[in-house]
Amino acid sequence: MMTIAIAVHGGAGTIRKADITPEKEAALQAGLAAALEAGHAILREGGSALDAVTAAVVALENDPLFNAGRGAVFTLDGTNELEAAIMDGPTQVAGTVTGVKTVKNPVKLARRVMEATPHVTLGFAAADAFAREQGLECVEPDYYFTETRWQALELERSRLAAGGVREDAPEDRKHGTVGAVALDEAGRLAAATSTGGQTAKWAGRIGDTPIIGAGTWADANCAVSCTGHGESFIRAAAAHDIAARMAYGGQSASEAAACLVHETLVRLHGSGGVILVDRAGRVSMPFNSEGMYRAMVDGEGNREVSIYR
Ligand code: ASP
Repeated sequence: MMTIAIAVHGGAGTIRKADITPEKEAALQAGLAAALEAGHAILREGGSALDAVTAAVVALENDPLFNAGRGAVFTLDGTNELEAAIMDGPTQVAGTVTGVKTVKNPVKLARRVMEATPHVTLGFAAADAFAREQGLECVEPDYYFTETRWQALELERSRLAAGGVREDAPEDRKHGTVGAVALDEAGRLAAATSTGGQTAKWAGRIGDTPIIGAGTWADANCAVSCTGHGESFIRAAAAHDIAARMAYGGQSASEAAACLVHETLVRLHGSGGVILVDRAGRVSMPFNSEGMYRAMVDGEGNREVSIYR
């Protein structure tokens, strides 16, 4: 039997059991489990890691509970600007999109950028236009409207108007993002990430998700997807830092991920976490926030769906 493995995340932040109703907790776990299964089923049937991470991320983008696609957070202006990335480990080719406003599944658009353009990143109106040209499903901006995200924006606007500083926003108001990493039976790794970004971000702000090496990375040794305070992840070159620790520093995947999350990011005041799979199918999911929505099936068949520390 060849080794296959997959992990997904649905964001990190101040996620406390006391703040989540049992019904919501069950819905979040069901969403994670469904995304995990969407990807794992592809791997079990001999499909590619790229197809598996795409399917897992599409499932999370379509679930309004997660901050990506349908459930994306709002910018300060009350708009939605979505971002996504995908990367193929063996070839290190990648595609990313930012500032997307009308695409149902930004991860599919990132994949088209990877496969059908000479570029890595497309942004804003040109990215939406490319989606239409490629025949991807497009939506009206109100597709992304959810009451919870709108209320989070209103709360954040009031807090900022009362003199609050952006850095002090409650973690649960700042964060969210979804991602997947996978190893297929041919030994190929892939990573994908998708997000609405941060609540009340400036229109035009670009986070870590669509920056290759910051929020997303895959090579021959590991696949990484990040979630958390994007500015810190960019300044840490977070996802690539893990790969470099493994390649040049000789660290194991779990050591490398733990150093990045618990040392480097802490020093840069970057709350959040990562999911990672290595070429042996070992999965790590460290985070330095109170919780991270996460799920995995590793190379030995161990399965986990969890939320809290
Ligand atoms: N990293 C995302 C961003 O900064 C948000 C998150 O993952 O919570 O846009």
